[in-house]
Amino acid sequence: MVQVNADYLKLKAGYLFPEISRRIKDFNSKNPNTDLIRLGIGDVTEPLPLACREAMKAAIEEMGTAESFKGYGPEQGYKWLRESISKNDYSTRGCEISAEEIFVSDGSKCDSSNILDILGKANKIAVTDPVYPVYVDTNVMTGRTGEANLKGEYQGLSYIPINSENGFEAAIPKEKFDLIYLCFPNNPTGAVATREQLVSWVKYAKENDSLILFDAAYEAFIKDDSIPHSIFEIEGSRDCAIEFRSFSKNAGFTGTRCAFTVIPKSLKGKAGKEEVDLWSLWNRRQSTKFNGVSYVVQRGAEAVYSEEGKMQVKKLVSFYMDNAQIIKANLTSAGFEVFGAINAPYAWIKTPNKLSSWDFFDFLLENANVVGTPGSGFGAAGEGYFRLSAFNSRENVEKAMQRIVKL
Ligand SMILES: *Cc1c(COP(=O)(O)O)cnc(C)c1O
Repeated sequence: MVQVNADYLKLKAGYLFPEISRRIKDFNSKNPNTDLIRLGIGDVTEPLPLACREAMKAAIEEMGTAESFKGYGPEQGYKWLRESISKNDYSTRGCEISAEEIFVSDGSKCDSSNILDILGKANKIAVTDPVYPVYVDTNVMTGRTGEANLKGEYQGLSYIPINSENGFEAAIPKEKFDLIYLCFPNNPTGAVATREQLVSWVKYAKENDSLILFDAAYEAFIKDDSIPHSIFEIEGSRDCAIEFRSFSKNAGFTGTRCAFTVIPKSLKGKAGKEEVDLWSLWNRRQSTKFNGVSYVVQRGAEAVYSEEGKMQVKKLVSFYMDNAQIIKANLTSAGFEVFGAINAPYAWIKTPNKLSSWDFFDFLLENANVVGTPGSGFGAAGEGYFRLSAFNSRENVEKAMQRIVKL
């Protein structure tokens, strides 16, 4: 019989979203015809911006004649998209990121997983707790951890707690880590990192020769002008950081699929004593294992940076952020302790009466018919918290709030 990758068997069986589905199914079978409102998973709900749809329609027409037909594109993405990104997401914020340093992909979930392909196995790794489960699980799958304990913490990974006691600030570690995953604005807590905090992280990384993997999937939701949108706004970051960005949340591309990863050419790692460019390794990796994002979708992504596109994306983002504000205001007035939801589309709620995250999940499901996400699903330190997402229609958000406030 064929050998399997036994590292997969270390993964905790009850992964968050399947368990949520199981409980919903169970509830539905006992309570048919209940109008459930889902503020659980982090998926957008509003239609794609018109500018993106029009650009994609035009691109499809181009595919319809031999003269303008496109076959395989560059594995790294089309130059015009990479130049648009470089200009609009980086130059305008004073970051020197060239088009060549931008690798277009079909998603940040894949990129933040695939990046492990070019990194060694002996690196000491730190993640925040709670955390986007993808970072942890891909380290488990690739044999970079030991087994999990009862709380779900894996041997060989270090956890930096972010909670109400430390103001959801990831404290700079005293020990040396080679690889640190940071996600700000944060999923699931909705917290942001200030410029001072990011400056401290870059200083730490440079002093310790560490690499920061910075996930900025939610940067478009930042309202506070003093909060950096990119790690590359911090001086020195070109020597110690890789950034993941996605069109999923700002432009509603969760089902359309387009993202990008930024690897500065100045970024170095080592193989034994030899210094190696991470850019070259990633370029090699993408050229071998990836054949690029569809031409049509890249034209759709490019339209995000057109004048109309920018306006439409801004409107989309503020629609969700108004939802976030409604959630925060209602729950706060109902006596809940609510974090986040100011510069991020997630409200992170302390469960009342010290209920466990899953008990509060069941309580809301049964009594308000509202589905959220138990904080403990994002890590041991998420226990006692609960995530509500602002990704839904205004009507559903308002109805959900009325039901919760009434309890
Ligand atoms: C939604 C999300 C992403 C985006 O993933 P895609 O694969 O680009 O859709 C990345 N990181 C975090 C933390 C997210 O929540």
